[in-house]
Amino acid sequence: MTQRFSFSLHATDGKARTGVISTPRGDIRTPAFMPVGTAATVKAMLPESVRATGADILLGNTYHLMLRPTAERVARLGGLHRFMNWDRPILTDSGGFQVMSLADLRKLTEDGVTFRSHVDGSRHHLSPERSMEIQRLLGSDIVMCFDECPALPADDRRVAESMRLSMRWAARSKAAFGDRPGHALFGIQQGGVTRELRDESAEKLREIGFDGYAVGGLAVGEGQAAMFGVLDYAPDMLPEDRPRYLMGVGKPDDIVGAVERGIDMMDCVLPSRSGRTGQAWTRRGQVNIKNARHMDDPRPLDEACTCPACRSYSRAYLHHVFRTGEIISSMLLTWHNLHYYQDLMEGLRKAIAAGGLDAFVRDFHALRAEGDIEPI
Ligand SMILES: [Zn+2]
Repeated sequence: MTQRFSFSLHATDGKARTGVISTPRGDIRTPAFMPVGTAATVKAMLPESVRATGADILLGNTYHLMLRPTAERVARLGGLHRFMNWDRPILTDSGGFQVMSLADLRKLTEDGVTFRSHVDGSRHHLSPERSMEIQRLLGSDIVMCFDECPALPADDRRVAESMRLSMRWAARSKAAFGDRPGHALFGIQQGGVTRELRDESAEKLREIGFDGYAVGGLAVGEGQAAMFGVLDYAPDMLPEDRPRYLMGVGKPDDIVGAVERGIDMMDCVLPSRSGRTGQAWTRRGQVNIKNARHMDDPRPLDEACTCPACRSYSRAYLHHVFRTGEIISSMLLTWHNLHYYQDLMEGLRKAIAAGGLDAFVRDFHALRAEGDIEPI
């Protein structure tokens, strides 16, 4: 196993890329989808089950973990990998985005953000230096720069000011991260939906130099068309020989569109969260298991899926356990959704490697357009 962090591109098809990120904790096949393990767990899943779906890497949230159980406690207990029983790579976000969306009474200064915990009202401070310290204590393999991200739509002046602050914080993050062989620090491009600002941000990040680069500030309410509009040019501004990560995306069709535009990594709570609310994602689109049409249906959710929910249970059973509030409902639907997402990534990787991405994407859209199987 390698002791260094590295990225090798194996094939491209149009702008889409497939390759491998190597880390001391194992390889990450790209394009990669990272399930979200917010509070040191992917909800309703054992870590070995998450691995069985094909996930190579998980995402952990700095904001949640710094509040509970605290980064210092996780470090005393041997780090996040041991604490949550996941020995493969973990990427942690910087906490910046969630402070903005979840915390109370935020105060933003050049130094960082002071806020009150949404859990118990306690006072905390996050800065580039503190974020790097927390992510080091957690033992994260891929560390994200501390940044600020305005909700869209926002006017250009506000987006520009925020982006420039994030770039100053990126330089401070790099200095605080230091030299940590085997661990990676990713910079985050900001600039909203304005090309000039994206360009300025990318230039600044390249000047500082990172192991990978994220396209940040998207999937914050701008809609798919605007997001794809930015992805038509933003990834091209980032170094070709480093992984490109689109944060917080997305629905299956967002993922396919992002991969077509040169994105290598993504994360989203959607497959796990919707699994707990009775929503399944299949090759034929979204299925609402709550719907009475499934009550007498002995067929699996998706006859082509090899996950435990589809192999051993009927739609009628999944409907029943959801309706009766049984815990197994969240377990089975989350497993299926994560399995579907990883299947999709595997399909994308193979298609890119074979130079057949266009046909793959055509089939992907065609089957979804047909919709779910006819009711019994
Ligand atoms: Zn399934």
